[in-house]
Amino acid sequence: MHKNLKRQLQRVYGDIVPQSPEFQKLLAVISETYEGRDNEYELVERSLEISSKELTELNETLRKEKEVVERVVEERTKELSQERSKLETIAQNMETGAILFDHNGKVAFANNTARKFIDFHDSSLENLLPKLYKIFAAYPIPDFVNRCLEGNEDELKDVEMAQTSYEFKFQVLSNETGYLIWIKDVTSEKLLERSKNELLAIASHQLRSPLTVVKGNTEMLLDESFGPLTDEQTKIIQQTAQSNENMITLINQMLDITKISQQGMSFNMVDVPVEEVLQQVVDDLQPYAETYKVTLSSSINKDSGQIIQADKTRLYQVFQNLIENAIKYSDPESGNDIVYISSEVLDKKIVIKIKDVGIGIPASEQSKLFARFYRASNATKFVPDGSGLGLYIVKSIVELINGTVEFTSVEGEGTTFTINLPINR
Ligand code: ADP
Repeated sequence: MHKNLKRQLQRVYGDIVPQSPEFQKLLAVISETYEGRDNEYELVERSLEISSKELTELNETLRKEKEVVERVVEERTKELSQERSKLETIAQNMETGAILFDHNGKVAFANNTARKFIDFHDSSLENLLPKLYKIFAAYPIPDFVNRCLEGNEDELKDVEMAQTSYEFKFQVLSNETGYLIWIKDVTSEKLLERSKNELLAIASHQLRSPLTVVKGNTEMLLDESFGPLTDEQTKIIQQTAQSNENMITLINQMLDITKISQQGMSFNMVDVPVEEVLQQVVDDLQPYAETYKVTLSSSINKDSGQIIQADKTRLYQVFQNLIENAIKYSDPESGNDIVYISSEVLDKKIVIKIKDVGIGIPASEQSKLFARFYRASNATKFVPDGSGLGLYIVKSIVELINGTVEFTSVEGEGTTFTINLPINR
C-alpha cells in the first residue's frame, strides 16, 4: 500500500482499519492511483531537471559567445579606428591638396596640404572656397566648381601663383559623397621639363650645323665638282648623304617635339588653299615614290579654291609625312604598289585620305601609334631607320589647326589615314 494512503488511514482510523472486502478493494484502487501519480511526478521532475540543465548549459554557451563577439567587436573597432587614423594622416599630409564639398558647395573636408596652398588656418571650413577663389582670382575656378556640381569632371593646368605651378583636377565622387578638388604643386616637374627641353633644343641646334656641312659636301662630291667618282665611291657617298639626311630629319623632329611640349610652335595662320598644297606635296614626292617603285594616284581638285586657316609650311609637313609613310610602308616585294590620295568636301570640312596597300599596322598596336617614339613591330623589321616621331607631330599640328587625324588599318593589307580640316568660308 502507498505510504501516503497508509498515513492517511492511520490518521483517520488509528490502528483499526475496516477490513470489509469492498473497503479493501477501494483502498487498493486508491493506492494504485497514488503510485501512478508518483510515477508521473517522477517523470515531470526528471524532465524538469533535464531542461533546467540544458538551459544552464545553453546560457553558459551564450555567455561565452557573447564574450567572444564583444571581444571581436572591440578589436575590429580598434583596428578600424587605427585604420581611420592612418588614412586620415595620409589624407592630411599627402602631397596633393584635397578639398571635399557637397552639392550645396559646402566644404566637408580640406587636408593640410590644401590649407597650406591657400594659407587657410580657420577651424571652420565656411570661408575656404571663397579664399581659394580669391587666391587664384586670375583663373576661373568657380566656373570649374559649378561645372563639377553639374557632373562634369575637368582639369585646369598651368595655374601659376607666386612662382609656383599648380594643376587642378575637379572630380565627381557621387551626389551623396560629394565632389573633390585636387590641387597639385607641379613646379619641380615643370622646371625639369623646361630644362630637358632647353637641353634638347641646344643640342639639336649644335648638331644641325655640322650636319649641314656634311650635306653640302656630299652634294658637291656627288655632283662630281671634285672630279669623277667610281661606282663604288658614288654608292658610299650616297649612303653617307642618306644617313645624314635621316639625322637632319630626326633633329628637326626633336626640335618640333620640344616646341610642341613648350607650346612654342609658331604658327603663321593664313588662308591656305589646302588642295593646292596637297597637290604640291604629291608632285614633290614623285621621285621619292619612284625609288620605292610605288605609283602615286590622286584625286584632288586643286582648283576647288577651298580655303582653310593654317600655317602653310606646317600643313605641307603633315601631308608630306603621311604620304612618305604610305610610300615607305608599301611592300617592295609586290613590285607595283599604289598609294591613293584623295580630297573631298563634306559638311564644311575638307576630308583628305591617304590610302596604301602596304604592310598595315597590327591591331594590338594601333592604339599606341600616335605616341612619341612608338614604332609598330612589323615596321621596325621592315624599315629599320625611323624615329616614331612623325605621327605625333602630325597629330599635334592637325589639332593646332582645329582638325582631326585618324586611321584604319589591317595588317598585311594596308592603311588609310584620314585628315578632317574645317573650311573657314
Ligand atoms: P617612323 O615612320 O619614323 O617610324 P612615324 O611617327 O611617322 O615614325 O610612324 C610611327 C609608326 O606608325 C611607324 O613606325 C609605323 O609602325 C606606323 N605607320 C605609320 N604610317 C604607316 C603606314 N602607312 N603603314 C603602316 N604603318 C605605318
